[in-house]
Amino acid sequence: TTTRTPLMAGNWKMNLDHLQGTHLVQKLTWTLEDKRHDFADVEVAVLPPFTDLRSVQTLVDGDKLKLVYGAQDLSQHDEGAYTGEVSGAFLAKLGCTYVCVGHSERREYHHETDEIVRAKVEAAYRHGVTPILCVGEPLEVRKAGQHVEHTVAQLEAAVAGLSREQAESLVVAYEPVWAIGTGEVATPADAQEVCGALREALARVFDGDVAAKVRVLYGGSVKPGNVAEIMAGDDVDGALVGGASLVVDDFAGICRYKE
Ligand code: PEP
Repeated sequence: TTTRTPLMAGNWKMNLDHLQGTHLVQKLTWTLEDKRHDFADVEVAVLPPFTDLRSVQTLVDGDKLKLVYGAQDLSQHDEGAYTGEVSGAFLAKLGCTYVCVGHSERREYHHETDEIVRAKVEAAYRHGVTPILCVGEPLEVRKAGQHVEHTVAQLEAAVAGLSREQAESLVVAYEPVWAIGTGEVATPADAQEVCGALREALARVFDGDVAAKVRVLYGGSVKPGNVAEIMAGDDVDGALVGGASLVVDDFAGICRYKE
């Protein structure tokens, strides 16, 4: 019922230096090629630390690898006196396809507000890098039954300034905070409920055509053993994977969820 290409994106977080990172990318590619993985059928992306990106770019370009890559964050500014920040312009120059924006760890540890997240989404588009916009509720909000309202409000705040054309290419990741790195997975019904609500929100803000094109991923303790049932949801178009993306066979297994 859908023409959206599933996306499996590995968020390495602060793991793997550039040597370990290029090693993982090579092994991952060999593993997927062995299985004759069709990268046009299920897109595969890795999101390494900034310091790995140049090495990953060299490897991907040099060996014409079919996986794509991106960063875990970017600055809301384009250049200037922002010590320690990284511009979307630099990410574009390094061939980044994606950039993760608004991950719950950034919202929590770096005090990223909805306003900052929105500015970062806009910065990514200014430089032609596709944002993977992360939204999701903490446990208290889930317990209060406010998870749909909470995540929809985060989405609406982040996309408010986008054109239809920009919005079409957006990737959204629903990541319930209580399921990240905890081994606690949302049920397939939980994932579908919120991913469906996010798509409906996009249809209200933009229109149904835009909403039908946006890929909505689920993230939170996705493993080879639970990915297929999560992917069965009509509105679930892929996964944002943390821990399991650091283990070649696990991440390859997630990319091969159709088997
Ligand atoms: C994440 O942080 O994006 C994530 C989904 O982590 P994990 O898969 O380890 O829960």
